[in-house]
Amino acid sequence: MLIAANKAVSIDYTLTNDAGEVIDSSAGGAPLVYLHGAGNIIIGLERALEGKQAGDELNVAIEPEDAYGEYSAELVATLDRAMFEGVDQLEVGMQFHASGPDGSMQIVTIRDIDGDDVTVDGNHPLAGQRLNFKVKVVTVREASDEEVAHGHIHGEGGHHH
Ligand SMILES: [Zn+2]
Repeated sequence: MLIAANKAVSIDYTLTNDAGEVIDSSAGGAPLVYLHGAGNIIIGLERALEGKQAGDELNVAIEPEDAYGEYSAELVATLDRAMFEGVDQLEVGMQFHASGPDGSMQIVTIRDIDGDDVTVDGNHPLAGQRLNFKVKVVTVREASDEEVAHGHIHGEGGHHH
């Protein structure tokens, strides 16, 4: 069975950056399970897997625009410490959920703290990076009607609800 929209796909993968550092990997754990064509994974990887089948292996380099986007300086802002009321101790590297200009939820990371000035960054941690995936397709099956309706996979490696 070939990978196409509405297939449930499981993959083993290792993700490295251009410096060769491993950022993420399924090695030593369960394969990643996703619903193809539903935006569960980055678009560049979805495109690379289209038409592949169980047992296929591929190495693919994905540019930022097909991964987590270019780094945007507009997503960096300096806020007053008072904005974080209720947080006992602010530290560089802490992450918060915040609503973006269009109302969508995004994760912001504290990049710097200088007195009452707290610099936050709404870029994805992998924004601006080319991602190098080494992937092996483990299984491909038809997704159930319910999985397609939900836009994600159920059961092992997927959602439980
Ligand atoms: Zn569901």
